Amino acid sequence: MSIAREASKRLFSKPSTLRYPFEKPTVPSGLRGIPVWSMENCILCILCQTTCPPAAIKMTPKGPDAGIEFRLDRCIFCGECADICPKKVITMSDRFELAGDDRSKMVYSYKKTLHIIPEEYCVRSD
Ligand code: SF4
Ligand code: SF4
Repeated sequence: MSIAREASKRLFSKPSTLRYPFEKPTVPSGLRGIPVWSMENCILCILCQTTCPPAAIKMTPKGPDAGIEFRLDRCIFCGECADICPKKVITMSDRFELAGDDRSKMVYSYKKTLHIIPEEYCVRSD
């Protein structure tokens, strides 16, 4: 195809690029954006923390502060945490617009709500 023909074809065709951020792209399925935790099924097993390559996950496994601290500024979106979680608590969301200039705002805290077991279900040892 001649250059002139190619140029005239391109002149009247839609551009392949988007005017981002004014136009939003359609994200492909399987995109690994920010991981999110649904803590109700979390068993605080620490597997996600131990498997995370850049140490973006810090767990408090016991006590009233039991839960997970996730540091977005360290995450490399590898998805290892979601793959290893035995309870499927972690989802790699499709949120990808995550840039920021304040690292202190990139720390997410997920608390495990402790459920009080009614006394009638407690097994007493005495
Ligand atoms: S691997 Fe899953 S169940 Fe285990 S602590 Fe992490 S989020 Fe909770
Ligand atoms: S996606 Fe990878 S880097 Fe990010 S928290 Fe999970 S294991 Fe860590």
